[in-house]
Amino acid sequence: MAENLNLFTSTQVVIHEALNKLGYDEGMFELLKEPLRMLEVRIPIKMDDGKVQVFTGFRAQHNDAVGPTKGGVRFHPQVSKDEMKALSMWMTLKCGIVDLPYGGAKGGIICDPRQMTMTEIEKLSRGYVRAISQFVGPAKDIPAPDVFTNSQIMAWMMDEYSRIDEFNSPGFITGKPIVLGGSQGRERATAQGVTICVEEAAKKRGLVMKDLRIVIQGFGNAGSFLAKFMSDAGAKVIGISDAYGALHDPNGLDIDYLLDRRDSFGTVTKLFENTISNQELLELDCDILVPAAIENQITSENAHKIKASIVVEAANGPTTTEATQILTDRGILLIPDVLASAGGVTVSYFEWVQNNQGYYWSEEEVNEKLYKKMVSAFENIYNVATTRNINMRLAAYMVGVRKTAEAARFRGWV
Ligand code: GLU
Repeated sequence: MAENLNLFTSTQVVIHEALNKLGYDEGMFELLKEPLRMLEVRIPIKMDDGKVQVFTGFRAQHNDAVGPTKGGVRFHPQVSKDEMKALSMWMTLKCGIVDLPYGGAKGGIICDPRQMTMTEIEKLSRGYVRAISQFVGPAKDIPAPDVFTNSQIMAWMMDEYSRIDEFNSPGFITGKPIVLGGSQGRERATAQGVTICVEEAAKKRGLVMKDLRIVIQGFGNAGSFLAKFMSDAGAKVIGISDAYGALHDPNGLDIDYLLDRRDSFGTVTKLFENTISNQELLELDCDILVPAAIENQITSENAHKIKASIVVEAANGPTTTEATQILTDRGILLIPDVLASAGGVTVSYFEWVQNNQGYYWSEEEVNEKLYKKMVSAFENIYNVATTRNINMRLAAYMVGVRKTAEAARFRGWV
């Protein structure tokens, strides 16, 4: 049978297993197997050449038993309904794992911002907010950045929402520029969370940071900041990649130089001649492999060729279910996406709290709070995995889904 690459159905399988292990019946799975709401909108935009183009956008709200829903908005040509559903479910899990008072959501627009001008991107961002404004809000559903969206886009979206609302509404969206109520440390938060997971995982395996050889797939927000943190901590980043190819140097790459040359979409390898493929990158001899790019990168095809002893998933869904099993059987420690990438939404929560109270924290305060949440989430999941003798992904799903399931039960939904 062909390997299941559909993120939505493979997520359902693990949620089902997690609920079974927690002792919930089929009714709970029925509730949690799909988002409660799935909005599809069409957004007409007058492009710079004067022609009208109509874009399709989505917002999936998985479950709001715990509180308002939360999750990013991605601008990408491959955005689909099933992807939105899966990503909204993962947001529920992430919020449960780091114990935030939210359920999960996700939004997206089918488009390629790399081919669009700033004016067109601004119109699209504002059009999206107008289309979904009835369904979102600071106490309802709070968007944030994701693939190919950034603080500028969050600023336009916040401005549009504030106009509709006729109030200044910074708490409507997170990941904003600092001057508009963004939080210190939000931009680096995902990478910071991944770094904490790398450190904790290395400790479990008796590895020391300065001896580590790390390979990072992807040089976007998470991948590039992570490369910087790792090399600053004395580790050797021996491989990085973007959508067009990968760079490898067994003695360690010059990360500051690469950061200087990368464009806003994380592209850098085009400037070099000696590149290797993304597939070769994943199979490099290293201690830690961090997929920080896109989905379905480690599959049953290449899982047995991975040489790292620890895999930390900074991207959403980079390892298939079959590959997870292969890595686990090979004794490779896999730190799942819903844990490793939870730093972003954690600092988004801090941003929202600061917006609601109108009082702002220093970067040290934010980092300290993030560190506490990530380490305790890591320990919690690691302990569940060890005591139950299950892999970290299933353990993370059990920890992540529990809060929503309990809240739904108390509300009398199931
Ligand atoms: N897009 C990020 C994620 O997938 C952050 C979401 C948020 O900050 O709400 O976790």
